[in-house]
Amino acid sequence: MTTMANDVRELEAQHVLQTYRRQPVVFERGEGVWLFDDAGNRYLDFLSGIGVASLGHAHPGLARAIARQSETLLHTSNLYFHPLQGELATRLSVKTGLERAFFCNSGTEAIEACLKFARRFWHTAGVADRTKFVAFDHAFHGRTMGSLSVTWDEHYRAPFAPLVPGVTFAIASDPASLASLVDEHTAAIIVEPIQGEGGVRPVPPALAAAIAEACRRTGALLIADEVQSGSGRTGTFLYSGTAGLAPDLIALGKALGAGVPVGAAMVSGKVATAISAGDHGTTYGGNLLSTRAALYVLDELDKLAPHIKDAGALFEQKLLTLQKQHKVITSVRGAGLMRGLELAIDAAPVIEAALKAGLLVNRTAERVVRMLPPLTVTAAEIEEATRILDGALRSVSVEEVKA
Ligand code: PLP
Repeated sequence: MTTMANDVRELEAQHVLQTYRRQPVVFERGEGVWLFDDAGNRYLDFLSGIGVASLGHAHPGLARAIARQSETLLHTSNLYFHPLQGELATRLSVKTGLERAFFCNSGTEAIEACLKFARRFWHTAGVADRTKFVAFDHAFHGRTMGSLSVTWDEHYRAPFAPLVPGVTFAIASDPASLASLVDEHTAAIIVEPIQGEGGVRPVPPALAAAIAEACRRTGALLIADEVQSGSGRTGTFLYSGTAGLAPDLIALGKALGAGVPVGAAMVSGKVATAISAGDHGTTYGGNLLSTRAALYVLDELDKLAPHIKDAGALFEQKLLTLQKQHKVITSVRGAGLMRGLELAIDAAPVIEAALKAGLLVNRTAERVVRMLPPLTVTAAEIEEATRILDGALRSVSVEEVKA
């Protein structure tokens, strides 16, 4: 541990609220898929700030675009017409097939907006008692009150009760469980096309069919949380279509700003007609810095799409090979550059061993090693990451044998 790292820790320990458990490393700079710590060690970043740094770190083009914007105009509020929001909304509308965008600053805010717009839709329709939401077990939608209410994990929820009433959770692995929960009082079903925090679990076809049937039968709206699975991560802009979902509302965040905070709630024409001026708002949402960043990211994503497909296929093949070599890997899941290895043991020692060997990945759902590399990741970097993972899995197996 360097002196600087000690200072950083000391200051944090005194004044940063202790809501996070930090890994013992202080990063000073990044370049592409690589991060450098204060002691000069380099790390392959296969987490990209939890699926955020989609273009890699310190991307020169993005840096120039946001620097130029900051020299021109950063923020004027949503009281005035906006030079960039219309352009970004139009491009997102083409990409998602949903007519309108509401801009905000994070994934959880995009979810809050979707939940509010779903309720507003039924309120405008004169069905004010249609307020319930149906979510799924293992779902994660964020930490603010509305998002937390549709998030499954009791550890996150219990200390903050009472949450938004009228939320129930269907069992994703038992599509039939949905039918009894969705009725004429359900405002919307909310689903992650690939659960991220829940352990990298794509929606299986039978569940997508059950969701479609429940929406058709009752008229309930569908909200797709593409905060983690969207913005190009799986090789297409959204994963909803691949999963067989046809959402009325879509939440976007994370990779869309490549490190600049931006979120968006995409809204179908049908739902948008129910929304009036003043129904929702934000001071910062869609400011010039974040919309400029998102426009730049969309340009790059268009160019990167074929690469993401190839890199995702290579990554999958490497992980399947790893599975053949390590009995401890019970499942390889995900799509494109959103991947998870489920282990027969707690994933924490593997994450720790990988970090020591210079690879950043993280643990979700206790036994899953989650990987969300920058979308620019090269074949050589994928090779290197799987080599390090192999070593980390070996070291843990050896430890297990010793124990
Ligand atoms: N939805 C999903 C699927 C997420 O993975 C996350 C964050 O991990 C969120 C919502 C919340 O996003 P944020 O942390 O930007 O508020």
